[in-house]
Amino acid sequence: MAASAACALLGPAMAPADSGAVAAAAPHPVRAAEDVRGEGDGTLITRLHTPPTGTSIASPARDTLFACKGGTLTRPDRPWIDAHGVIDVLKRPFVSGTMHWHKYLKVSTTATERRFKGNGLPDHATGRFPVQKGTPAYKYYAEIPAHGYPNAAAIPIKPWNLDITVPRDPAVQAQPTCIDQLTTGMALAGGTFHLEVATDAEDRPVDPNAALPLDRCWGHPYDTQYHYHGPSQTCFGSKHSRRSANTRARSRHSPLVGYAIDGFGIFGPRGEDGEIVKNRDLDVCHGHTHAIMWDGKKVVMYHYHLNGEYPYSIGCFRGKPVTVSGSGHGGH
Ligand SMILES: [Zn+2]
Ligand SMILES: [Zn+2]
Repeated sequence: MAASAACALLGPAMAPADSGAVAAAAPHPVRAAEDVRGEGDGTLITRLHTPPTGTSIASPARDTLFACKGGTLTRPDRPWIDAHGVIDVLKRPFVSGTMHWHKYLKVSTTATERRFKGNGLPDHATGRFPVQKGTPAYKYYAEIPAHGYPNAAAIPIKPWNLDITVPRDPAVQAQPTCIDQLTTGMALAGGTFHLEVATDAEDRPVDPNAALPLDRCWGHPYDTQYHYHGPSQTCFGSKHSRRSANTRARSRHSPLVGYAIDGFGIFGPRGEDGEIVKNRDLDVCHGHTHAIMWDGKKVVMYHYHLNGEYPYSIGCFRGKPVTVSGSGHGGH
């Protein structure tokens, strides 16, 4: 975070012309009722490991997630998934088009709580939703039923009343908690993170990253709420910080990109040594504990990571999740 931005500025790979821009985008601790901006190191992960058909989502385990509803995953038959279950993101079409939004997100803190109040819209452009007929993504959305719409391709993005309060310094619970809501976290970029389970045309649970084209920011709307799936940090942060991501010294932990609904932080894909974290480096909830920057202080604390191995984001909750009003329940 603050430390990594400072080191990135001093890094030998950094062109001097970029320094000012990166300094302006440097992460900062969250203060009371502050307008926030999504952070990100722009790392684009192009190969995702999706689980095989039959993978249980009924109990906490590595390489899967723990949904209260239970069930098993079906691996969809898609041209961008190889026989080993590797998704080639560059072969998967993106939802095309460009839409711009007026994001509103305020994060305020008390001694014990952190409150997010916003309109759920992102600070980056999205693909065009409803998904347009004749675009490569259309048929994959059009085959999925959607409540209140002819099909899932017809769902637009709309603002909503995002008002979520989580513990400011959450405690690790003795047992992990299953996921029973669609919203699993809030991104500083303005959208939310969703459960990494969708349903296919036959109502079977599937990995959304396997089944569906997403937009270039790895997002799409459900019930008009824009949310992310997978290692979605590519659009987080300023253009300058994203552009410099490929030249920046890669020896640092990724920045904070959001908060889970149990209050723990969600970070990009790089661990302490700057390498993309593997699931074997993480626990069953897709997180781990080491020193991180938290509200401007270095503390040893649990946190989640985004990476390229299912469930990509949150697998279960290490803290106590809060209930998100105005967001879907029940999982799939
Ligand atoms: Zn989704
Ligand atoms: Zn970490």
